[in-house]
Amino acid sequence: MRKEQLIQHKTPFYCYDLELLTQTLDVALLHANKHSYHIHYALKANTNDRILNLIQSKGFGADCVSGNEVKKAIEIGFEPNQIAFAGVGKSDEEILIGLENNIFTFNCESVEEIVVINELASQKNKIAKIALRLNPNVDAKTHKYITTGLEENKFGINSWELENLLAQLPSWKHIKITGLHFHIGSQITSMTPFKNLCIRVNELNTWFLERGVQIEHLNLGGGLGIDYQNPTENHIPDFELFFGVFKQFLEPKPHQEVHFELGRSLVANCGSLISKVLYIKKGIKTNFAILDAGMTELIRPALYQASHHIENLISNSPETEFYDVVGPICESSDCFGKRIKLKETKRGDFIKIHSAGAYGEVMTSRYNLREQNDVVFVNG
Ligand SMILES: *Cc1c(COP(=O)(O)O)cnc(C)c1O
Repeated sequence: MRKEQLIQHKTPFYCYDLELLTQTLDVALLHANKHSYHIHYALKANTNDRILNLIQSKGFGADCVSGNEVKKAIEIGFEPNQIAFAGVGKSDEEILIGLENNIFTFNCESVEEIVVINELASQKNKIAKIALRLNPNVDAKTHKYITTGLEENKFGINSWELENLLAQLPSWKHIKITGLHFHIGSQITSMTPFKNLCIRVNELNTWFLERGVQIEHLNLGGGLGIDYQNPTENHIPDFELFFGVFKQFLEPKPHQEVHFELGRSLVANCGSLISKVLYIKKGIKTNFAILDAGMTELIRPALYQASHHIENLISNSPETEFYDVVGPICESSDCFGKRIKLKETKRGDFIKIHSAGAYGEVMTSRYNLREQNDVVFVNG
């Protein structure tokens, strides 16, 4: 975005590059299609309408984690038979939304949840298609707040519960198990956890087959990370490598479909948060650049100790300086980064926080009664 365009907009605002999103979606599809893999877009990463419309128009399915996300996906035009509904705590109302719309699957996270879905499906005289979300006990080696595939996490059904689950299966007349589902975490940049996941999935898949349970699809979840440090060099994640690992190590049975649920890797890099410097405050050890955006606009640094690449869009200074880049919110965790090297920065400069397209706008809050942000699209 050029300087003249920038300064027309009230800061802070989210800026999305629809051309980069299009390219990213096309590359992901290219490499998934080679192996006939299906991709569901994980709505929770970004639910902006224009972004959803573009993703839907490319033929992606949807992965939802609330009843409202299921409704939103249908409103946007995603096919109900391409909607997976995950989440460890689905309310009865949310389950009914899924049932009424005949979605692709409920990804079920506990025996108790299956009992409830069976009961509600029976009231509606329907058969609910479910995938069992299994806890593979594979370490994603990512931040502990975004690790989901270990036995200590709240997600998924643990292996020691499976015998008991299968014993109850015949009594659930309104349930059909169609899939096995896994999701080990997010922002995973090493392929080793995915390889370990494949090995575990192969074992579990065989275990079910041996017990006569027909599994139609394997859903490997999402979690592919992006390069937050060098977003301009690596602007599109390595989907070829990612899907290649599954091609190499996953052993689906004949006729089993393979599904993925990607969020961050599809949308993170197309979005940025643009903010203005309010003040430069000289500290004892460091200078603070105080922005008009804070954790209310982008909570990832405060929530997961995430770091985003930060750039001064305006300064022409040949000098660089180190700054602690912070927001205006009354919380010490309201900090985008410590000792960030920027061109010499002054009040009024525009700051770009890169790779904010996933878990950015969707997590904004009105804390401190902050204003809602503008959204700007480029290259539409
Ligand atoms: C969040 C989530 C995803 C998407 O994760 P990304 O890291 O954004 O790819 C996929 N599946 C489930 C069940 C999730 O909760």
